[in-house]
Amino acid sequence: MKRLVVLGGGESGVGTALLGKEKGFEVFVSDYGTLKKEYKDVLIHNEIDWEEEKHTPSKILNADVVMKSPGISEQVAIVKALLEQQVPVLSEIEFAAQFTEANIVGITGSNGKTTTTMMTHHILHQAKLNVEMGGNIGDSFAGLIEKNPDHFVLELSSFQLDGVRKFRPHIAVITNITPDHLDRYDHKFENYIASKFRITMNQTKEDILIYDADDEVINSYIQTHDIQSTLMPFSLTKILEQGTFLRQEEIIIKYKKEENIMPTTNLALEGKHNIKNAMAAATVAHLLKIRKDTIRESLECFQGAEHRLENVLKINKVQYINDSKATNVNATYFALESMDAPTVWIVGGVDKGNDYSALFPFVNEKVKAIICLGKNNEALFHNFEHMVEIMVETQYMSEAVKIAYNIAAAGENVLLSPACASFDLFKNYEDRGHQFKTAVRAL
Ligand code: ADP
Repeated sequence: MKRLVVLGGGESGVGTALLGKEKGFEVFVSDYGTLKKEYKDVLIHNEIDWEEEKHTPSKILNADVVMKSPGISEQVAIVKALLEQQVPVLSEIEFAAQFTEANIVGITGSNGKTTTTMMTHHILHQAKLNVEMGGNIGDSFAGLIEKNPDHFVLELSSFQLDGVRKFRPHIAVITNITPDHLDRYDHKFENYIASKFRITMNQTKEDILIYDADDEVINSYIQTHDIQSTLMPFSLTKILEQGTFLRQEEIIIKYKKEENIMPTTNLALEGKHNIKNAMAAATVAHLLKIRKDTIRESLECFQGAEHRLENVLKINKVQYINDSKATNVNATYFALESMDAPTVWIVGGVDKGNDYSALFPFVNEKVKAIICLGKNNEALFHNFEHMVEIMVETQYMSEAVKIAYNIAAAGENVLLSPACASFDLFKNYEDRGHQFKTAVRAL
């Protein structure tokens, strides 16, 4: 019996443990932190051996194969020891992929992964395909294998892609690449880019890469590397020979000799970035031969994901918008770009070395007041102080929302789009978004 050791007992770890057990491995789960009760219960119920708050070398180094959770760095001592002994250390995605023949759509990028994944799943589901969605969102890929669908739509983070070797999605999507998580990549942007492109590494010309052709980082990587995949770029600005682009108010998808045309006028989600996401999702659907009316209708009724430019409430004709998931400047860029009225902007948190200059034109044009919501708001003041008349700071969401309520006039917006991580004042971005919504509802 082969021994599978799973490092990290979270969603992907427990999913892998169950799959491994079912496939006949002797499984051991080890977590340096504590396991959530629900996961412990699952392991105990399935008679899978586990430990927490430690990594016992004698129980780990004897593995035939190791699945490492994406959250654990390769620099951790136990992982280094495994690599020295040449034990294969895989990601859950790699481990799970060997047990399915289904069509895999893999979606990665710095921003827009969740939205594009959910949109794509929504269209496939509306088209009545037998499809499951997971990966970096919801259920782990490993946990979904037993459902045995015809199609998987997987959201994939760069950390998940770091651990793949043979993984070969038939359709890969790279939504965009902007600097993020550089602390895990030796502070080298090129390492992070290469990690995203691992999604294409085993693709052949039978497989497809859908990507944003307006993204210079992606373009230059494709031009300078030998990518085998058939390319399906999408663009808001260029007309393409093959790919997906805009003509007036229509999305055109051109693949081989076929052409598919769809109006953009009634798309459910606002903002240019969401047209891009819709283009990516529609391209996947087109390649899977879904009817154009189904694609169009699905995009028209798609309800966006929570915390992503989510319209919360209108109070006294002021629209309150929760974009708590905007944890970097690029995401906030698209949020501000899509504001169509003067906006009170709630921003701040843990600044990962942000360069705010891309936001200056929007702030000058649309932002009426800035409310800083972070422990340290120095960088925000330094960048924006001279651009707006009102700039205040607070460490409480309820207060931030009350101040915004007092400033915003009828027809205007209050936007929470922090451009920063949340963990100085909140548990995570979901907590931040929920606190915002609660405060808005209490007005
Ligand atoms: P991810 O899963 O990659 O973090 P999400 O769909 O959760 O992406 O969106 C994260 C943030 O980025 C949200 O604030 C959202 O409004 C914004 N966003 C969504 N799609 C894009 C895109 N294509 N380009 C830039 N920002 C985007």
